[in-house]
Amino acid sequence: MIVVKNKIHQITVPTPFAVGDTHVYLLKGDTLSLVDAGVKTEEAWEAILSQLKEIGYKSSDIEQIILTHHHPDHTGLIERFDRAEQTVGHQYVTPWITRDEAYFSRFEAFYHEYFNENGVPKRFLAQLEKLRGQLKWAGKGNLTTVITEGDTLPGHPEFTVIDTKGHAQSHLSFLGKDGTFIGGDHLLQHISPNPIMEPPREGEVVRPKPLLQYRENLEKCRKLGINMVLPGHGDIFTNVEEVITQRFTKQENRAKKVLNLIKEYPKTAFQICEELFSLHFEKQIDLTMSETIGQLDYLEHIGLVSKKMEDGVYFYHAN
Ligand SMILES: [Zn+2]
Repeated sequence: MIVVKNKIHQITVPTPFAVGDTHVYLLKGDTLSLVDAGVKTEEAWEAILSQLKEIGYKSSDIEQIILTHHHPDHTGLIERFDRAEQTVGHQYVTPWITRDEAYFSRFEAFYHEYFNENGVPKRFLAQLEKLRGQLKWAGKGNLTTVITEGDTLPGHPEFTVIDTKGHAQSHLSFLGKDGTFIGGDHLLQHISPNPIMEPPREGEVVRPKPLLQYRENLEKCRKLGINMVLPGHGDIFTNVEEVITQRFTKQENRAKKVLNLIKEYPKTAFQICEELFSLHFEKQIDLTMSETIGQLDYLEHIGLVSKKMEDGVYFYHAN
């Protein structure tokens, strides 16, 4: 546990995921809130209880849970705080925590089509079941309050809600009047968040371009006067400008690598993914494809790459 300011404490929670520990923030204000809720394991629950105790609280003292995004390592324990009457987040968190079957069917149907048209072999479709398997780590419940860009955080009027979609379509961050930024997975010091692909929203046909959204929201963060980032993973940091520049540089370097891979002849996103992530694509097709497609969306956006469909599969070529 780290005392960040007299009204903010950082609580660190283990996860069974490669990303390692995740942080939860206790906010004292008109309401006693937790920002994010770890992952659904007993170890995570014990970690939260013991650190709350150090600060002088019990789980039943928590009145409100605020979510930065819908991923399982951030929503896990929402239902364990049975006295928390308010659960606050982006409207797109809802299908995940309510286990909306119609949404998951749409999600899977989208991924089938998206994999097919990007040349991913059929044998990988079985891995899509694992998306549902991830839900065992995720919290179950319902939002009581939907928030969006420009709102103030209920019970904490010194914090404004900033839309930071990219890593997740439901991603929000919270900017304090003093420049403290609770950034979820949007701004991390040591790693770039994966621009995870999600289906278009209901009624829309075009899929999101998560890496472009992430870049846009990184750029936006330069102008917010942030002087300290309280991230979802890794260390708290103050060299915000430097970290943002680093994230851009790393991403643009990876894009250059992708561009080089298609200099000679056109390739599908899957062929590029295999070369780019030769050690990881077999086991993590969803994440490695998201990263690859993200770079291709970016290269297409800046006019260096175009795609052409042949027999139902997109081929990318350098312009
Ligand atoms: Zn996440």
